[in-house]
Formats: sequence, C-alpha cells, structure tokens
Amino acid sequence: MTQPLPMLPVAPTRPASTLPCALDYDEQALVATFAMLGHPAYRGRQVFRDLHQRHVASWEGCTNLPRELRAQLAERYRILPGELVGQAISQDGTRKRLVRLADGQDIETVAIPAISPAGAHRLSVCVSTQAGCAMACTFCATGRMGLARGLTPGEIVDQVYGFERDAPSERPTHVVFMGMGEPLHNYAATVAAVRLLSHANGVNLSQRRITVSTSGLVPQIEQLAGEGLEITLAISLHAPDDTLRASLMPINRRYPLAELIAAAAAYAHKTGRRVSYEYVLLRDVNDALHHADRLATILPPKLSHVNLIPYNATDASYRPTPPNAARAFRDRLLGAGVSTTIRASRGRDIAAACGQLKAENRRQGTRSPG
Ligand code: SF4
Repeated sequence: MTQPLPMLPVAPTRPASTLPCALDYDEQALVATFAMLGHPAYRGRQVFRDLHQRHVASWEGCTNLPRELRAQLAERYRILPGELVGQAISQDGTRKRLVRLADGQDIETVAIPAISPAGAHRLSVCVSTQAGCAMACTFCATGRMGLARGLTPGEIVDQVYGFERDAPSERPTHVVFMGMGEPLHNYAATVAAVRLLSHANGVNLSQRRITVSTSGLVPQIEQLAGEGLEITLAISLHAPDDTLRASLMPINRRYPLAELIAAAAAYAHKTGRRVSYEYVLLRDVNDALHHADRLATILPPKLSHVNLIPYNATDASYRPTPPNAARAFRDRLLGAGVSTTIRASRGRDIAAACGQLKAENRRQGTRSPG
C-alpha cells in the first residue's frame, strides 16, 4: 500500500467566529428571518440561492443585496462553518479537504472521481456527520476517538460546497454519508442536510444520488422510512451472525441482526429503494466462504445489494483480505443469487476511508499555520 500523502497546509481565509452559521437555515427559515429583520420574502430566497447554489464565501459575495443589508448580515451571521486548514490529492485523483470548525473540531471530507458503468464522469463526495463517533466499531479509526459532537446541517453540506468552490468546473455528482460519525445518531441534521442538498434552489442534487449509511440504529431506520426521501440506505453489516458482528460492532448488542435486517427490508418495501449492505472484508475474521453462505441466507431476497469493501488497514489488529479471496467471496454470493460488487479502493495514498483521514492527520501532527 502506498504511504499517505502529507497534508498541505492552507493559509486561513478568515478568523473563526461563533456567530450563527447561515448555512444551517433552510429556505423557509431564511425567509422568516428576513421578515423579522423587516425585509421582503424574496430576499430570503435570494440569499438561499447565494449560499446553496452559488456557494458565496462571504456576505460581500451577495452582490444582489444592498450594501447596507450585507453589512447588517455580516454582523449577525457567518457563512463558512470553518476554515480550510489542509488539502491533498492522491495519485488516482481523489481529493481531500480538512476543515477546522469554529469550535476547533477538525472534519475531513474526500471527493472520489470515478467513471460509471455507462461511461459517465462521477465525483462522489464522502461527508462526515459527526466529529468522532460513539459507535466504537473495532476496525475503525474514528470509533477509537469517541464522539465529540454532531455536526450541524451547514457543517455537513459545506463539505460538498467546499469542493465546488475549489474547482467550480468539477461539480460533485453524488454524496455519500459515510465519513466520520454515525449519520443516524445525528438524525435531524442528517435529514436536514439531505433536504438542503436536494433543494431545487440549491445544488438540486437528485436524492437518488445520495446514500446515507448506518451501523444499524433500528428506530432511526424506521423513522427514515417515513421521511418521503428517495435516498439509498446503506447498512454497515460486516458480519453474517450476531456473535461475530457484536465483536466488531458493539451496536449489534442493542439491535441484533434479525431486527436490523427486518428494519432494512421494511425500509426497502416502503420506499421501493434497494438497500445496500456494506461488508468490509477482514482477513481471517469475516471473509471465509461459510460467512458468504450465511450472509446469503440472512439477506432479504429482493431489493438487496452487497458492497464488499477492501479493508484499508489503520492498525495491526486487522488485515485486508487478498484480492483473489475477495473475488471468491463475491462469486459465492453471486452464485447464491445475491447482487454483489467489490468496491474499488480509491484514495488509499491519502487514507481515504471512513474515519481514517482525521486519524492520519493527527498522527502527522498537521496544524493550521494560523
Ligand atoms: S465504522 Fe462508522 S459507525 Fe462504526 S465507529 Fe466508524 S464512523 Fe462510527
């Protein structure tokens, strides 16, 4: 495996601020806020477009607003949730940004270029929903950090907008909620971020191009099924039986596999959307053919897809499954009639996997020059 690239420090663009962040407001809230300040409703809609479609970085960028109003807004609200303190690009084109939030929390985001089976260019942004994570999965660097706090909707969506600001010609085409944190443990902000990203007056991303992952919070999966969203739900499964899964993912003790699979099947039935089951292959832990056989028996026969993920080693506790064994695992599932793919491993040289970026950055001691 290639060594991680060092993060390139970036000069801070603005001082951290504790003012409320305007990106946290949806269009309705902005309209109401402007009404409160004595301005017509269309001003709120204008500002929503400036923030979520044009991605202005300062109130000065809202050139369609009177100068006085811009000054008034600058006194009350900030736009950017944090400052860019590091960035890197890997040999395969995967890009990484590290942002320091106003309270000093660092969050990282990767944008992964790919070509779809139909030959179209894709740019998938993998967003974090929490600083750290409370789920303590044993194979995950974020899990070892513990939870600092949930991110706000603005802190989540600006991870996508940041890449658009850096390179306006390379617009993200897909967003996956698979970075640091358990998205459904920060439920309200995650759902609000999905609605902001798919808002017609914002980036207007089709919800079908948004994937939200979960380690298996059953009540929240049930709640999500009723939101009327068209997103893809991805269940981080990683084991086909309760004993093994509980040893990898403590959440399984609270919500065992039978309950989780039933909730996922009900989600698929209610939304008509195929559920993706994520399975990280860990050598000599969960990658034997009998694990594949067991997995094939527990998955719902319809609207299920298995994504096999090559493990991106973060420490010596686990090792990646060799590629030939991964292919044999896939073929076993395919033979049992389960739709299965092996996810291409991208961005390895910048440690672009769930929770690994921040850990890598900590090890290297990267700090803002400011
Ligand atoms: S794998 Fe996901 S849910 Fe589990 S500890 Fe890591 S970030 Fe949290």
